[in-house]
Amino acid sequence: MTISELESRYTSGVYTKRPLTIVRGQGARVWSDEGREYIDCVGGQGTANVGHANAAVAQAIAEQARTLISLTEAFYNDKRAALAEKLVSISPNHANRAFLCNSGAEAIEGAIKFARFSTGRTGIVAMMRGFHGRTMGALSATWEPKYREPFLPLVPDFSHIPFDNLAKAREAITDKTAGVIVEVVQGEGGVRPASREFLQGLQALCRERGAMLIVDEVQTGFGRTGKMFASEQFGVEADLVALAKSIAGGLPMGAILIGERVKQLQPMIHGTTFGGNPLASAAALAAIDIIEKENLPARAAELGAYTMGRLQRIESPMIRQVRGMGLLIGIELKQKVQPYLQALMERGVLGLPAGMNVLRLLPPLVIEKSDLDIVVDQIEAVLTGRGEGEE
Ligand SMILES: *Cc1c(COP(=O)(O)O)cnc(C)c1O
Repeated sequence: MTISELESRYTSGVYTKRPLTIVRGQGARVWSDEGREYIDCVGGQGTANVGHANAAVAQAIAEQARTLISLTEAFYNDKRAALAEKLVSISPNHANRAFLCNSGAEAIEGAIKFARFSTGRTGIVAMMRGFHGRTMGALSATWEPKYREPFLPLVPDFSHIPFDNLAKAREAITDKTAGVIVEVVQGEGGVRPASREFLQGLQALCRERGAMLIVDEVQTGFGRTGKMFASEQFGVEADLVALAKSIAGGLPMGAILIGERVKQLQPMIHGTTFGGNPLASAAALAAIDIIEKENLPARAAELGAYTMGRLQRIESPMIRQVRGMGLLIGIELKQKVQPYLQALMERGVLGLPAGMNVLRLLPPLVIEKSDLDIVVDQIEAVLTGRGEGEE
């Protein structure tokens, strides 16, 4: 039995699988069980900003694993304390505290609870095309009907307004609104950056009406868009910032950066067993250190602008728009993206979809410029008809 046959037999069934088994990674490259090399623009679905098998992260994990792997937050710990301080010091919202958890959805769940706790209100205003995760609270904020409908009823008092529409936000945010939740660049929803006016307008509306602004930087954080956090690009300061994906060099971890408008949190209202465990904390400290020392945000800005420029010059009637920020890049096609992802894979390039018709690139930020050139060349080949990709 092959690896894929074995996994197919026993896996849950909730994932659409590609016919490829990956067994090893290094930087922005991954290798299949058959030894074939791929340029990886999936980047662990956005978790691999510092690159696969990063040596400094691997060493931090190995050292911490020999020292102490888990410890509940009922006790203090050196790595956790250092990480909380670090996260607060780099926070884009002048946060003064951090809550540590284990995933993006969990960061969103906590942020929703903290907004309700802090305001004593229940309403959450979310965005059309927004994606915030799959647990019941995060799913209630997520827009895509296919993700939601099998699980109705979801958490009450959530509503969705059009993204980037300040007039609708002005109508929707009231004295019953606990929080407004928004991605700075919608990721799964098709790689759509918000406008500065919209985000700053949301911030002003939240302050005026006593609601908490929750910014979801799970995908855009840690250098992806060209700054440490995308919020910095727009001068927006949220009350609660949700983080995960690349926070810990690829290990599962999430965090909420808590700003000063959030009421002092109390014991018992929230918690999680693995939250702030020393292993993930040590990995996160190492990963953030690399992002800063290697100046990966600036690298993402430069390589992103270069790559988007090259993509924009591709002449293909299949491309509707190329957009993005830093190394979060979307190529909106006029048709379904899946066959083109398959064709790219056959040419040694792994990419992601974002919705039905956007080809998304989310490479490790350490990717070489020459690899991005190959990626663009292959995308051009596939989209100008030489790939047999049509539906
Ligand atoms: C991936 C993602 C999430 C969910 O994170 P998980 O770790 O998969 O639960 C939430 N918000 C955004 C913007 C994401 O990209």
